[in-house]
Amino acid sequence: MSNAPHGGQLKDLLVRDAHLHDQLNEEARSLKDIFLTERQLCDLELIMNGGFSPLEGFMNEADYLSVRDTLRLAKVDGQRQGTLFPMPITLDVSQSSIDALSIAPGARIALRDPRDESALAILTVSDIYSPDKAAEAEAVMGADDPAHPAVTYLRNSTHEFYVGGSVQAIKAPTHYDYVALRYTPAELRAHFQKVAWRKVVAFQTRNPMHRAHRELTVRAARQRRANVLIHPVVGLTKPGDVDHYTRVRAYQALMPGYPEGMAHLALLPLAMRMAGPREALWHAIIRKNFGATHFIVGRDHAGPGKNSQGKDFYGPYDAQELVAQYKDELHIEMVPFQAMTYLPGTDEYQPVDEVAKGTPTADISGTELRKRLRTGAAIPDWFSYTGVVKVLRESYPPRPKQGFTILLTGLHNSGKDTIARALQVTLQQQGQRSVSLLLGEELRHDLSTEIEVHPTPEEKHVNLLRIGFVASELTKAGAAVIAAPTAPYTRSRKAMREQIAGQGGNFFLVHVATPLEWCEKVDRRGLYKRARNGEIKGLTGVDEKYEEPTDADLVCDLREDTVPEIVHSIIMILEAQSLL
Ligand code: ADP
Repeated sequence: MSNAPHGGQLKDLLVRDAHLHDQLNEEARSLKDIFLTERQLCDLELIMNGGFSPLEGFMNEADYLSVRDTLRLAKVDGQRQGTLFPMPITLDVSQSSIDALSIAPGARIALRDPRDESALAILTVSDIYSPDKAAEAEAVMGADDPAHPAVTYLRNSTHEFYVGGSVQAIKAPTHYDYVALRYTPAELRAHFQKVAWRKVVAFQTRNPMHRAHRELTVRAARQRRANVLIHPVVGLTKPGDVDHYTRVRAYQALMPGYPEGMAHLALLPLAMRMAGPREALWHAIIRKNFGATHFIVGRDHAGPGKNSQGKDFYGPYDAQELVAQYKDELHIEMVPFQAMTYLPGTDEYQPVDEVAKGTPTADISGTELRKRLRTGAAIPDWFSYTGVVKVLRESYPPRPKQGFTILLTGLHNSGKDTIARALQVTLQQQGQRSVSLLLGEELRHDLSTEIEVHPTPEEKHVNLLRIGFVASELTKAGAAVIAAPTAPYTRSRKAMREQIAGQGGNFFLVHVATPLEWCEKVDRRGLYKRARNGEIKGLTGVDEKYEEPTDADLVCDLREDTVPEIVHSIIMILEAQSLL
């Protein structure tokens, strides 16, 4: 099996003599800039290091249309047909950028990393064109359906013009995480040569690996008498996936489980499109460029899940079929697998097509696994490995270890602060996590010093956003947060809920609904009196509206309930959610 790069030559644009490198860097200083998006950054890295060989830049219109409609680059002189390439690799820009940067054919533009503003490459513009997004979605993703993450991206995040052109590399984007595990195609090829691996079967993944995946790779290696490259994606994957830090730690925990010298782990900074069959073909080409000779395509490769009608976008083996169609010109051999399933009788994994009818099987779905992580329920040894489960549990602590925020909202003197303090000591007595108390009055001294004692409505809103930010960070870190500002507006409370719950954090709203008359009656500081006299303005309940929440997890009233009773009710809510 040859392991020549796709198109015959590795387009490693990062190899430059120092002099030219300095010249380009110098030139970039005088050019207009494009700050790349996360996806463009991933694409550029793989264009520059040769992962996308034979590409040497972002596609021009001819290549784009040809790739979209025929899965091939445009034909070049003397070629019978264009080189196979199933995925459009395009640089999208807005009309305003085109105007501001004077982007026109022949222009040279510096492509910059938005994180450190460094110049990564110079693009020489060949053309600017406007894509037909509906046609692109239909052709590449198979449907113009917003349930597909790449269609949503195309519709919502992709600008209206594409700029084609070749790039001259200045440097690869700087990474600070797992640097030793990141290889360019040239580096990985050199590694294979060093360890004398002639046959290498690559395994693509965007998920934590469990026993099924290890068995899959070992089977592939055994069948083809090859070594294994575990080549997970650490660029963009499907929204909602396990973050790559957790995944890489899980892969690292798994690797010692392979026989010594059998497998190697390398990370791929790819921005996946979840385009199923086309994606599988693209993945195969990329792995070929990285020096692999074989590539595993299992069940539902790079599948985006269900469409708007609740049906799978692609059939479970569509990806295998498409890759098989291009077998003769691909020059990397696909190793296809049907779904791996566990046979409890013999304690082994087998592809379903090899399992004798009537044999009992077992599986744990992704949803079930997430549930077990959430509740802390056991994850059996037949499913995963102790080291992998430990890593996942650290990133997805069970509920008794998760943080939460309780927002107490209500009028001045409604009893919020008293309840908050009582709840604080109750939780402190319980132990388990650190407790943070964010009282409205105190926060104004620390977090919002510029805000007047009697803030304007906008200041009240901004103040709650700040409290929300702090609460969200603390909740993420596993703390119990009790916040007790007045929080009179629905929009502010909604924003705070979004800040915390939007990131998967636990958030509870307690409305301390003690009536105004009672709050006024027990007003030792005379706040209400001064507001009634007109001495102070904007007191909630007097000349400022308090918008009653309709989404409270608990409504309480100090006239009717005692503080210990209210605290007990809150504790019961936390207990019911398995947080205590
Ligand atoms: P993606 O295909 O989106 O990268 P995964 O990381 O889940 O997502 O899968 C990696 C590879 O492993 C794919 O080729 C997929 O088809 C295959 N695969 C994953 N789980 C199984 C399984 N239980 N049986 C067979 N193949 C599987």
